[in-house]
Amino acid sequence: TEQRTPLIAGNWKMNFDHLQAIAFVQKLSWSLKDARHDYTDVEVAVFPPFTDLRSVQTLLSADKISLSLGAQDVSPHASGAYTGDVSADMLAKLDVGYVLVGHSERRQGHGEDDATVGAKALAAHRAGMVPMICVGETAEDLEEHGAAAIPVAQLTAALAELPEDAEFVIAYEPVWAIGSGQAATPEQAQEVAKAIRDALRELRGDERADATRVLYGGSVASQNVAGFLRQPDVDGALVGGASLKVDEFSRIIQFKK
Ligand code: PEP
Repeated sequence: TEQRTPLIAGNWKMNFDHLQAIAFVQKLSWSLKDARHDYTDVEVAVFPPFTDLRSVQTLLSADKISLSLGAQDVSPHASGAYTGDVSADMLAKLDVGYVLVGHSERRQGHGEDDATVGAKALAAHRAGMVPMICVGETAEDLEEHGAAAIPVAQLTAALAELPEDAEFVIAYEPVWAIGSGQAATPEQAQEVAKAIRDALRELRGDERADATRVLYGGSVASQNVAGFLRQPDVDGALVGGASLKVDEFSRIIQFKK
């Protein structure tokens, strides 16, 4: 594989208030210190709810903890009369480096279409953050179109909104594997990750395709993470449920051991 630092990302979804968030990050950092985790080998990112970001940012900077900070959503708009929205500039100001866009829970539960996902990715990019573009097929899509067609189509649509030189991360998450305990096999994940990288080659050229990290997500746990990370085109994991337990998430981060 090329020079892609593995990325382990924890999507907390709607869990942990700001006090629980502080306790969690503190414990995680102790656990990784105990294990002498080398932060240059594997990048770790957490994606807390909006209300926790300021507290987590303060802790990370005060204690010099090398975790990256991500947000779970962003407004496509810059500012103004958008009640309930949070802008990209507001997030960037809190040292947020990554923003999830197109998570299946937003596509399905909030009716976000490809154009919205692309607009959110663009807003994140313009504010200097890296969009983590989530793509994935439902069980019905899988039956009808195979595994790769829908994720590649979703990616193509999102990238149409982003400038050529924009950096991004892709999270391939089969919808049927999210929160189901039924993860894809490493071979299935590799097949789609490779199809995504092939599409990136067409859309953005070799350099961007080789530099871009493609994560797998969907029921990742400490027992199965290494199998995914061994695949040549899988460069990390987006972890939901298992990212909420300190010991389990710490073991996932130390997948090389
Ligand atoms: C997710 O929602 O991004 C996810 C991968 O969830 P889980 O790990 O719980 O399947």
